Amino acid sequence: MWLSATSAGRLLHCPASASLVSAPDPVPASPPGNAGTLAHFAVNAWVEGGAWLSDAPGLSLQDCWDSEAARWGVDTRRLTESVMTRSRLRSRGAELAALLQSVGETARSEVSLRDSAQLLYGQVDIVVNNQDGGAIIDLRTGADSQTERVRTQLLVYAHLFRHETNRLPDALIVFSLRHGAEQIDFSEGDIDGVLKRVQAARKQPSLAFPDPAGCKFCRRRLRCEPHWEAASAWEDPDCVEGVVSRMEAAATSLMAIRVDTISAQQWVTGLASSVVGGLKSGDTVRFTEVAGKGEPLAKEWRATRSTRSARV
Ligand code: SF4
Repeated sequence: MWLSATSAGRLLHCPASASLVSAPDPVPASPPGNAGTLAHFAVNAWVEGGAWLSDAPGLSLQDCWDSEAARWGVDTRRLTESVMTRSRLRSRGAELAALLQSVGETARSEVSLRDSAQLLYGQVDIVVNNQDGGAIIDLRTGADSQTERVRTQLLVYAHLFRHETNRLPDALIVFSLRHGAEQIDFSEGDIDGVLKRVQAARKQPSLAFPDPAGCKFCRRRLRCEPHWEAASAWEDPDCVEGVVSRMEAAATSLMAIRVDTISAQQWVTGLASSVVGGLKSGDTVRFTEVAGKGEPLAKEWRATRSTRSARV
């Protein structure tokens, strides 16, 4: 089974969160469901169409956002942080274009790399080529601060680049729309070291190591029992589980649900009907990405645009 560079980063942090796939095929593009994905589509169009070489790269990057939204028929007003992300594309576009031009003459986006012997693969946001090496650039749109995980992902990209080109990249760069460019220091020894750790971890049982930062962006979170056992002791959790004991509809079409947790009755308010689904009294439910306030035993929770739920 194949392991992606992204999952390799997860594997070293929490093995249970890493996904293996039977074929290293790129995931087919589908309508973007969040601002981060749409921003990646915009950067892809901007790089592949050569607009990064234009006189007004920030403006052209923002234009790519608009044209990608139109191409996919996306109402960006429904995407969380879309206004801010579109604005950041404009303000960071010149910086990203200057970075690409400082490394090489040609750039490609969504570049698939693979190593069939090690069963590793990756899809790099941007690869800039020059005669000696080039740069690998990973675009970040959110607040994911798992730097060790990101470093592992970039080192695996560097290995895949070396495997396919027989050259080491000159630079590994995380380009955050929030914070700008951050260069990752690395050596060939670092690449080989991380490969050994990844291949050793693949042979180990898939243990779970919950922690607030790592679990926050994990797709398995709603169904991961170790996460729920650990989260009850976290200082500032963003999730709650319990038995539905009351449901109320608000005038705004949002709903409030009271859950009986293991220690108290707590309300979760501001829930959209898509999150509530077919929940009814007596169901055991989990909510993630909810904002809590108050003392642990008297907490009130407010749904965010990212809130997800599952009946268990
Ligand atoms: S939710 Fe947390 S503990 Fe569970 S698999 Fe994901 S990262 Fe690991």
